[in-house]
This record gives sequence, C-alpha cells and structure tokens, in this order.
Amino acid sequence: MDSVKIISENCKGCGYCVVVCPKKVLEMGESANRMGYRYAVAARPDQCIACKLCAVMCPDSAIEIFK
Ligand code: SF4
Ligand code: SF4
Repeated sequence: MDSVKIISENCKGCGYCVVVCPKKVLEMGESANRMGYRYAVAARPDQCIACKLCAVMCPDSAIEIFK
C-alpha cells in the first residue's frame, strides 16, 4: 500500500510538497482538478518514508500519510 495520498480536489498546485520531500516522491502532474489547478502526484510512492513533511507543509490539507 502507498503511504502517501494526494487528495487531488483539495490541491491548489502550489508545489510546496514537491520541494519539501526529502525523497523526491512527489511531482506536479499534468492533469488539472475540477478547480483548474494542476495537482501534485506521488510519482515514486515506493520511496516514501512517511516523514509527513509534505502533509505538514501543505496549506490545503491535500495530503494524507498512512503507515
Ligand atoms: S511523507 Fe515524507 S517522504 Fe513521503 S511523500 Fe511526504 S515528504 Fe516525501
Ligand atoms: S502542498 Fe498541497 S496544495 Fe500544494 S501542491 Fe502539494 S498537495 Fe497541492
């Protein structure tokens, strides 16, 4: 199971999570959500160490961490 999940409809595309992730798990995706924002995606979920930095940084509570 992946330990990081982006709730794409909450994402405003700021990219903070992509910058802060120490394992380069996250990237900005190519698709836009219903609000028209390009949202972040977990490109390398197997690399996630569940440090929660991305979830703490996200201003829109768009990231859930499991594990
Ligand atoms: S929990 Fe940590 S390692 Fe996993 S995606 Fe977020 S910042 Fe990256
Ligand atoms: S920090 Fe949150 S709002 Fe910003 S790109 Fe990442 S998931 Fe989206």
